[in-house]
Amino acid sequence: MSDAIKLLVIIQCDLVLQRCPGFFCDRAFVNKSGGFKSLNIDEHTRKLNISCGGCCGRAIHRKLQLLAAKAKKYDQIEKDEIHIKLASCISKDNYHGPPCPNLEYIKKLIDKTGLQYSMDTTVSEKAEALRNSGIYQK
Ligand code: SF4
Ligand code: SF4
Repeated sequence: MSDAIKLLVIIQCDLVLQRCPGFFCDRAFVNKSGGFKSLNIDEHTRKLNISCGGCCGRAIHRKLQLLAAKAKKYDQIEKDEIHIKLASCISKDNYHGPPCPNLEYIKKLIDKTGLQYSMDTTVSEKAEALRNSGIYQK
C-alpha cells in the first residue's frame, strides 16, 4: 500500500494572486521540481490551491480545519495524509517581493491544525541566483 500524500494543499499569497495565476506552482507540482522534489507524491495525489485569505493570514487556520474535516468525512483522508505547501511567494524573497512578513505567524496557525507542512513550490534558477548573490535575501 502506498503511503504517498493523498491531498496536497498549496497556500498562495492572496496579494500575489491578484497578479499571478499560479502557473509555476502548478508546473513545479506536475514536474516534481523545486519544493516538490523530496515530497512523496504520486499520480494519485490530489492537489488544491488556496489563498492565505489575505493579511494577516489568520483565515488559514479555519480554512485548513474545515478542509481536514471535509476530507475525512467525504473521502476518508486522514490528517496525516494531507500535506500543506507554502508557496515560494510566501516563503522566499523573489520577483514579487520579500517573504511574507507574517510567515512565523502562519506557521503557528498551521501547527495548531496538526497538519504537516513545508516551504517552497516553484524555485526559479534566476531568483535562486539573485538570492545567492545577495540581491534577494536568503
Ligand atoms: S510561488 Fe510563484 S507561481 Fe506560485 S503563487 Fe506564488 S508567485 Fe505565483
Ligand atoms: S499574510 Fe502574507 S501570504 Fe497572506 S496576503 Fe499577507 S503577505 Fe501575502
